[in-house]
Amino acid sequence: MVVTRNGELIVRAPYNTPLPFIEHVINRKSLWIIKKLNEAASMPQYETRKFSEGELFMYLGNQYPLSIIENNKSAVRFVEDTIYISSKAFLNAERNIIRWYQTEAYKVLTERTEYFSASVNMKPSSIRLSGAKRRWGSCGRKGNINYNWRLIMAPLEILDYIVVHELAHLRHHNHSKQYWNLVFSIMPEYKSRELWLQKNGHLLNL
Ligand SMILES: [Zn+2]
Repeated sequence: MVVTRNGELIVRAPYNTPLPFIEHVINRKSLWIIKKLNEAASMPQYETRKFSEGELFMYLGNQYPLSIIENNKSAVRFVEDTIYISSKAFLNAERNIIRWYQTEAYKVLTERTEYFSASVNMKPSSIRLSGAKRRWGSCGRKGNINYNWRLIMAPLEILDYIVVHELAHLRHHNHSKQYWNLVFSIMPEYKSRELWLQKNGHLLNL
């Protein structure tokens, strides 16, 4: 039995299961189902992106409306809680919004890496952005760090956790006890942030 992100209840049973039995199980699980349906209803729905006026987009953990303006100064700009897109850039909205996200992601992730690199006393040889779905970061043997640009949609403390996670790999190229001790020493609350990503990572999508 699953409740999808769209708020659909899917019940699977062996082909010969009598219908009254299925109904009985659903009734018995009704509290759980209601709880899950409520959860699904309170989640932002990003399945059908329309790129329309007023549509909400995540940026550093908050949702901001998109607004189309007649202005050719810049394709996409974030000013006073609104994401402005020029009417020209709007013709290719998805590509231009992703480009804006990537520019912001690189800026913020570079800054945060700089900030936390003192804690491990090491600097990455390079910082690059990746677009791999469901992979938030990686650290190569030569000290190069890759970050998923979608992290710019997450709250800053979540983005910071990935920065610390990858920086700590500069010292330990594994997930050993020493590695996690180092992460803990920099960010004692790292576990709750990892949990947040597991639960909400699917919201950071485009
Ligand atoms: Zn790791």
